[in-house]
Amino acid sequence: MSVPLFDITRQNSTLESSLVRRATEVIRSGRYILGPEVEAFEREVGEWLGISHCLYVSSGSDALVMAMMALDIGPGDEVILPAFTFFATAGCVHRLGARPVFADVCPVCFNLDCDSLLDRISPRTRAVIPVHLFGQTANMTAIRAICGDRGIAVVEDCAQSFGARHRGEMSGGLGTIGTFSFFPTKNLGGFGDSGLVTTTDEGLYQRLRRIRQHGMEPKYYHREVGGNFRGDPLQAAMLREKLPQVSDYLKSRSENAAAYHELLGRLPGVSIADEKDCSCPMDTKRIGADSKIVLPVAYSHHLHTWNQFTVRIANGERDSLLHFLREREIGCEVYYPRTLGEQECFQAHQPDPCPVSSALAGEVVSLPIFPELRRSEIEEVVAVIRAWLETP
Ligand SMILES: *Cc1c(COP(=O)(O)O)cnc(C)c1O
Repeated sequence: MSVPLFDITRQNSTLESSLVRRATEVIRSGRYILGPEVEAFEREVGEWLGISHCLYVSSGSDALVMAMMALDIGPGDEVILPAFTFFATAGCVHRLGARPVFADVCPVCFNLDCDSLLDRISPRTRAVIPVHLFGQTANMTAIRAICGDRGIAVVEDCAQSFGARHRGEMSGGLGTIGTFSFFPTKNLGGFGDSGLVTTTDEGLYQRLRRIRQHGMEPKYYHREVGGNFRGDPLQAAMLREKLPQVSDYLKSRSENAAAYHELLGRLPGVSIADEKDCSCPMDTKRIGADSKIVLPVAYSHHLHTWNQFTVRIANGERDSLLHFLREREIGCEVYYPRTLGEQECFQAHQPDPCPVSSALAGEVVSLPIFPELRRSEIEEVVAVIRAWLETP
């Protein structure tokens, strides 16, 4: 039986008639740029997240660019971010002429390692972008303390963490600015590209609003240079239909993760990562000698949203498992096969080494976890992994 890594049609087909109705309303309204649908979505998503100011924008990548622009990041500035994340987190910094500085990550939670962050801080550091990778928040308590003391801005990349909480607090409201993506694979999946910028600072909100429309205020008077970063009413209307379902989606993701923990956790040679904070000593973070597969852990003080279920494979055997899964039509993907510091486009920066990130790039595999995944499909994934473990 083949199992897809991700299938958004299962989710959207159950809402099809109401989605079509919402889209039809927008088509008939003749209002295709900003306007009441976008404002309603911003209000509703703000209520859901409990964050005062939300702006619906063109993509998660653009949300990051806007955040950098609103903080006046530019040439001569440095912005620290994890070496192990999607490219957009670094691209936004480079695009504004600033220098992305790559810090290493924790192999237990995959997020920014605070010792490495401290090591990378220089007098030029203007901002830090913690990424809540795979749906679990970075150590925001430590990151905020480190940055707050030094006047460094914190931009949370929440592209994968819609709905995640850090010690009870919602991601996206924990730093200076938060950025989200509604790319179809994210926790709240849209119908194309769009994203969100969040802040609790009124002044930054007004600035971000201007930046979204060419720095314009009032109409045709430009106080600064912004861009066209607007989200469309058509998608805003459809996302309004999906927003009330997100809690159920997150619950299903978490049940799927629990099923993997239960079924895979029983197999010999499989362990669950130890819950430790990001600043745990390096040598406790290695894959145990007797484990071939380490399952991801949800820290008890966080609400993990399981955007991805990413396991680590020891002994250089990752590609063997990948091949085995693909041959048996089990959807899987490597997020991410190369660290940012190792990307060709950043070689001129001579990035510092990030050994944990480099190791992870060779160890990780993400398995199907989307909300509509069936129990029988999880069992099939587990059966194939068991067969791989039993192969001499
Ligand atoms: C998806 C993603 C982005 C970019 O979002 P888009 O909407 O695709 O532009 C940024 N950062 C991370 C960590 C992501 O996973």
